[in-house]
Amino acid sequence: MSDEDTGGRLSPDDAFAALSNEHRVRILRELGDAGSPLAFSELYDRLPVDDTARFNYHLGELRGHFVRKTADGYALDHPGQRVVEAIRSGAVTHDPEIERTTVDDRCPTCESPLEIQWLDGSVEVFCSVCESRWDRSHGRVGGPGEVESGYLGRLPFPPAGLRDRTPSEVLRAAHAWTNLELLAVGSGICPRCAAAVETELDACPDHDADGVCSTCRSRFAVLLYAACPNCPYQVGGAAALGLLSSPELLAFTLDHGIDPFSPESVLRLDRLLSEYDEEVLSRDPLRAVLTFSAGGDTLSLRVDETGDVVDGPTRPSS
Ligand SMILES: [Zn+2]
Ligand SMILES: [Zn+2]
Ligand SMILES: [Zn+2]
Repeated sequence: MSDEDTGGRLSPDDAFAALSNEHRVRILRELGDAGSPLAFSELYDRLPVDDTARFNYHLGELRGHFVRKTADGYALDHPGQRVVEAIRSGAVTHDPEIERTTVDDRCPTCESPLEIQWLDGSVEVFCSVCESRWDRSHGRVGGPGEVESGYLGRLPFPPAGLRDRTPSEVLRAAHAWTNLELLAVGSGICPRCAAAVETELDACPDHDADGVCSTCRSRFAVLLYAACPNCPYQVGGAAALGLLSSPELLAFTLDHGIDPFSPESVLRLDRLLSEYDEEVLSRDPLRAVLTFSAGGDTLSLRVDETGDVVDGPTRPSS
């Protein structure tokens, strides 16, 4: 579909101008909290304004786009819902400071305690003993930036997810949230705006598998990149992350009791997706074989330059 097909009723400038008033934002929040339509008087009583004409003016600025009048009263229209969701997630307002904290969970590689911190919209994960998986973080504001030792990666997670969870629960929920996003990316869908996303794999031309390679700055020889052409979303990481949506890998994980979306097994999945063998068969076009292990079984998948599995599993799991 073209832009005209999906064209909006308001320009971004007009939409944000309509929101640039504390009473209007409060109206949206009150309607979001109410969960069902509110009569004019009910909504008016919830706002700190004592002038009906002024209240009516602000409500009028929202009507027709963010707020809809129904037979039962005023309710959020879909754009108003998205604004309240963004506010409630904390993603556009909160920047919580969470210093590095040791969690109950153990490093999937060396069994030492893991540590987490929240920074720039993500939970960052560290092992207190292991070498880093990467020597830079690409997702930090102003990144790519140098990272502290033991850096294992970052998991996008809205601030609201930190509320009422222990550090260990935060880590597991952030893994599950990230896996849901990766499932969308692997299916070619931007997890933030639903536009079509293209993924590509790249093999390090001179990989040193002993620690973090100085050429690709990572422990992994084959890396995944995906970027949305419509919004700023982008993701990069080990090639295996792009395979989460493949039926072969999903079946393998589920066969071994690993549910990618269950907080109980996300750390086992992290081990599976970070401790695997890679073999580059050709560079142009790129073909590589990734071999995963779980419970004494292995699964080898041949992937192409887009991250798709080609030719099915190269050998059956034993
Ligand atoms: Zn470790
Ligand atoms: Zn390399
Ligand atoms: Zn997008």
